[in-house]
Amino acid sequence: MQLLPTETRAIDVRGQRGTADANGSGDPQVGDLTGGTETVDRVLTDAEVVSGGDLVMRGEWVIACPCSHGVRTGRWRRYDRWWMRMSEEEFTDALLAWYQEFGRDLPWRYTRDPYAVLVSEVMLQQTQVERVRVRWTTWLDRWPTFQALAAAPLREVIAAWSGLGYNRRAVALHRAAAQVVAEGVPSTMAGWRRLPGVGPYTAGAVAAFALGADVIPVDVNVARVLERRLGTPAIEPPPGRAATLTQALFDVGATICLARVPRCGACPVADGCPSRGRHYEPLRKQGRFEGSRRQARGQLLRDVQTGAVPVADADPAILAGMLADGLVAVSGDRITLP
Ligand code: SF4
Repeated sequence: MQLLPTETRAIDVRGQRGTADANGSGDPQVGDLTGGTETVDRVLTDAEVVSGGDLVMRGEWVIACPCSHGVRTGRWRRYDRWWMRMSEEEFTDALLAWYQEFGRDLPWRYTRDPYAVLVSEVMLQQTQVERVRVRWTTWLDRWPTFQALAAAPLREVIAAWSGLGYNRRAVALHRAAAQVVAEGVPSTMAGWRRLPGVGPYTAGAVAAFALGADVIPVDVNVARVLERRLGTPAIEPPPGRAATLTQALFDVGATICLARVPRCGACPVADGCPSRGRHYEPLRKQGRFEGSRRQARGQLLRDVQTGAVPVADADPAILAGMLADGLVAVSGDRITLP
């Protein structure tokens, strides 16, 4: 859900009582913040009425609770939606607790080695988790370090990538390893981004998982969960917990908050979720693989791996693209591995 501010105004809710009702019309009600009825003693510095009538309040609350809690302050500062039952702290706590019990057991989650993390992230960019699970382990057995990978012949690296798809990732990874050997392991996200094949997401993932940086790398699953639950893809992680929180978001996105029909009944952050129970239109389907350019590239690469292919036998456009990506070379009238 997109939050599109259309109006900003100050609202004074001193002395009001309210009950759960997220219709966003009229004056704000405050009871839903705690699941009970409380009296707002002061504040609401300002609020925004956003598209669809949802009300987003920012600012500091001071709440005089009629029960034994007395006057509470500060706790409410991080509510983005006045009707949201969970604060960001409660949201992250719920995710982390769920992850501890239900998180997927994936081998790359046990390492903080930057090389191993980078390999996993590059493989996971466009390949399913279950296929990566085995291939990541065999890859590391064969080339356990940046140095080992950089020293390997590119043709062997390309051949070892076979079956993971989008083979240019193998070339980029090989070049990245050479760059790390020459310049050292980057210590910042900006440094990782300078490596071939490393975009903002992958740089953030390596920074979070290997360097322990307080960043949440936002992939499509993470963005979906945060957008649906919080109305924004950005979240400030608790210090030192970014990596675990990201893994939890990955898993909720991959197994519960599914693209079309989310499993809200099993969701650890369903309480107060404005998207709960919604179904979604099918995403744009990937084009057919049969007869595609991808298929033609994969076939040519397989043919070249089994022996040199005459240039005359190749589709010129496919060959040109693969030459540009560094996946094949031409020697005389033959196409070979580089
Ligand atoms: S309640 Fe449903 S829509 Fe909301 S975050 Fe959970 S799974 Fe996604």
